[in-house]
Amino acid sequence: MQLTRYASMRSTVALMDYSAVCCARNLTTGSFLDAGMGYLISQTILLPFRLSPLPFAHMASTDVLDVEDVLAKLSLSDKIKLLTGKGFWRSCSIPNPKSRDPLVPSVLFSDGPNGVRGKLFNGFLSSCFPCSTGLGSSFDKDLVAEVGRALGEECITRGVHVLLGPTVNTQRSPLGGRSFESYSEDPHLNGAIAAAFINGLQATKVSACIKHFAANDQEFQRFSISSEVSERALREIYLKPFQIAIRDAQPWSLMTSYNLINGVHASENKWLLDDILRKEWNWNGLVISDWTGTYSTVEAIKAGLDLEMPGPTAMRGKAIGRALTGGKLHIGDVDACVRRMLGAVQRAQLSGIPFDLKWDKDKAEYASEELLRRASANSIVLLKNQPRKTEDRHLLPLDKSDINLKIAVIGPNAANTVFSGGGSAAVRPPYAVSPLQGITDAVLVSTGRPGPGFSAAGRGAGGGIRPRPMVASVIGINDAQKHLFAIDQYLAPPAAPAPAVAPLSIRKNGGVMVSHLIGMIGGGGTGTKNIALFESWDTAPTDDWMATDPDFSKNVPGADHNADSYSASCIFLDEDEENCPEYCWSRFTTVFTPDEEGEWSLNLFFICSTGNLFIDNQLIIDLSTDPQLGDEFYGMGTKAVEPPPIIFEKDREYRIELRMCTKEFASQAPMVTCRGGLNLGASKKLNAVEDEIKLAASVAGHADVAILVVGLDGDWESEGFDRDSLNLPGSTDKLVEAVVAANPHTVVVVQSGAPVEMPWIDKLEHGAVLQAFYGGMEAGNALADVLFGTVNPSAKLSLTFPKRLEDCPSYPSYGSMTQDEGKVLYNEGIFVGYRGYDIKNVKPLFPFGYGLSYTSFEYSSLKLYPITRKGDFKAEFTIKNVGSVEGREVAQVYVSDLKSSLPRPKKELHGFIKVSLRPDESKRVSVALDKYALSFFDEKKGKWVAEAGVFKVAVGGSSDDLPLEGTVELEQGFTWLGL
Ligand code: BGC
Repeated sequence: MQLTRYASMRSTVALMDYSAVCCARNLTTGSFLDAGMGYLISQTILLPFRLSPLPFAHMASTDVLDVEDVLAKLSLSDKIKLLTGKGFWRSCSIPNPKSRDPLVPSVLFSDGPNGVRGKLFNGFLSSCFPCSTGLGSSFDKDLVAEVGRALGEECITRGVHVLLGPTVNTQRSPLGGRSFESYSEDPHLNGAIAAAFINGLQATKVSACIKHFAANDQEFQRFSISSEVSERALREIYLKPFQIAIRDAQPWSLMTSYNLINGVHASENKWLLDDILRKEWNWNGLVISDWTGTYSTVEAIKAGLDLEMPGPTAMRGKAIGRALTGGKLHIGDVDACVRRMLGAVQRAQLSGIPFDLKWDKDKAEYASEELLRRASANSIVLLKNQPRKTEDRHLLPLDKSDINLKIAVIGPNAANTVFSGGGSAAVRPPYAVSPLQGITDAVLVSTGRPGPGFSAAGRGAGGGIRPRPMVASVIGINDAQKHLFAIDQYLAPPAAPAPAVAPLSIRKNGGVMVSHLIGMIGGGGTGTKNIALFESWDTAPTDDWMATDPDFSKNVPGADHNADSYSASCIFLDEDEENCPEYCWSRFTTVFTPDEEGEWSLNLFFICSTGNLFIDNQLIIDLSTDPQLGDEFYGMGTKAVEPPPIIFEKDREYRIELRMCTKEFASQAPMVTCRGGLNLGASKKLNAVEDEIKLAASVAGHADVAILVVGLDGDWESEGFDRDSLNLPGSTDKLVEAVVAANPHTVVVVQSGAPVEMPWIDKLEHGAVLQAFYGGMEAGNALADVLFGTVNPSAKLSLTFPKRLEDCPSYPSYGSMTQDEGKVLYNEGIFVGYRGYDIKNVKPLFPFGYGLSYTSFEYSSLKLYPITRKGDFKAEFTIKNVGSVEGREVAQVYVSDLKSSLPRPKKELHGFIKVSLRPDESKRVSVALDKYALSFFDEKKGKWVAEAGVFKVAVGGSSDDLPLEGTVELEQGFTWLGL
């Protein structure tokens, strides 16, 4: 497969550019004042902030609204409007009777966190960076700031004012469906990396929206579950990353979470939003709800939830007027939220990003390939690298100049491009590099043509002329995927579109609506061309529309709405929410042309609708008659079904028609109003699992090295559900064992956002293991860089990898295993992640902070500087590269309170530094620590407490390998609150 590369890739500008328009923020009014150059002022800190030249002219100060002035002009209904969304991704605008420009323009939001997804579930093509657990594992603040900056630049060219990220929900359990979206189980690392991301992003003047505040660590019953957690654990583990990011980077907006915290929904939790966020932390940015996460009118406004998203409103509108009349709300409560909303609009104006930018995919720009690749390679953790069987060196790196090398690339994720987890974090990149492609490209010779593949039994990589290492690939097993691959590549739009309104527009009652995109769900894809027609009617088009044997000769009236679709994994939902009737009838029509003769498997589920699939007018799948509900699309879909395989002819065109209706789902109060959606997958029927495993083992056996790429994907790690177990899916473990048995020189590459169990790990006596996370669109190239040693791996695990699920600190009080209906008990308190393993003395599979390199480092000469009265101190030490290649080491500094009035973790990470060293080079480095490193939260005192006494400071390259130790003494204890 030839990848499409975009000529317009641009390189990222260095983060050194202080620009012209600077302002300081008046925290009382939420407005911005001219304040000369370069400082963002908060009441507690003075932060330098960096601005970049934008492709748009900066706003003159007259173009920027004056908060108090506008507030005074707004009617009550205008104010109410401003506190609700307009459609899925915008805030409301307020017209100006005296001008064509609105008095208040509408701000555009886009998901985050590792791409800019744009309007709806498929709006833009966007660069896809590695998932956050990967970026967290890089322990590289400079790199993550660059990523934030690149995403900011991408927002600018797409008219996005607020990027919905970073996510900093501490992973309580590796099972969390969205674990991949946050950086780490450790609050310090999570907060420090988030701050770097925000600083990079906001340097472009695009606003970050840190999320989901707070204790949103599982997907099970995510709208209604109450996280039952002690204040101490909240403060030390779950709020801490937010606290650090707010202290170090001042994000301009924040998103509340869906769940309740000790019985009160986060979006109306006054203690959380007002007492802590606003008062204690002095933060005055915009608070927005998670999508459909506002559950009250009065309480939410009183707590300080400024903006209800998305629109149309469910909890505000007229209800605010009624609450004002009844005295349950006062106009001052409303004004406080409006002020902050206007402050956010002002920010958007100051960015110079237009409010009505039309994105043009043909002129689109993306982050530089170099940065995407570097970020991905720096996220890969080398977990194991054993000596080879016959030679005196480690298996990795491989030598790509060895022309006799025969490499087998095997596994369900090898030729597949797994670049992201699923749900709202999934983006649609312009291309994505699979591991097979990356490895094959890496061994190409200068002719640019593929060399000879070796086939053994698997598929060779193609013929060529020059000697070079040879690559053969085989997919491996077929039960590792949850759903079959999207059918898109075999589809084309119907030749004669149904006699409806013209495609490329949505029409409603004769009027043309602006936008009509169809969005891809799940892990996303890279499709850009029209492959199907989606039509929708507001009344049943025929009386037998949903019958399993409809009369296809019946005259179907022209659709009320229609649109082209780029994918057979899509949901019809985009700025249509205000017009979408409760019930809709829809049709998805396409032409399927198989490229191989024989038995094919199909796999289908509908979203927010029930329906039937017909091929050449014959019923193939009936999901209209009492279908089961599934987990897909936040639990708003039918369960996926796979009918018995169907025999297709090669190159024959089959007409596929899916008819659907939203009626049954509408009665279940769905989270979104839409016209339905579907996910249709297909693949040529694969061999029985046992046969595939045998084939994989045989190919591996004929190779010098087997690279086995396994893992999860956006179907396994996504929104709306958690994982059931830590196992690799299907028969993957058996595949690994068979391949390792066939070839001891096997490199197992695991692509997953969060830990998986590795029961075969000890069998790799001469093998290697890489944790590659979801590496973004350059995943395959980055992997090749690490395999062949172009990049020396330097990432360290930002999550503990358990041997088994039962060892996880939160087990069993998590997700569906929770013992109390509607509540999840955070029984382990502050002992989350490595803190939990430490306290119970349980050995994990791989500890937090662990990761190997192709070189090794030596630590020496720790010097600890005395603690100042404010609690600041410093650790200084020397690191030396004692191996033979250049490398980067993440030095970690852990602090332990040797004696305290309340139990404390055995150690906590409070500082780290990433250092580059050439062979034999040594550097003296220093890591600054502060009162956060000394303090615990005392609920009785309602304060952070740093107790006088001796603290141990340990330094090293992993949480379980800390060769340097020393002590410092805090002479006089103190308490504190705030940042
Ligand atoms: C997610 C948010 C996301 C929002 C908009 C919600 O389901 O929880 O993280 O920003 O949707 O897509």
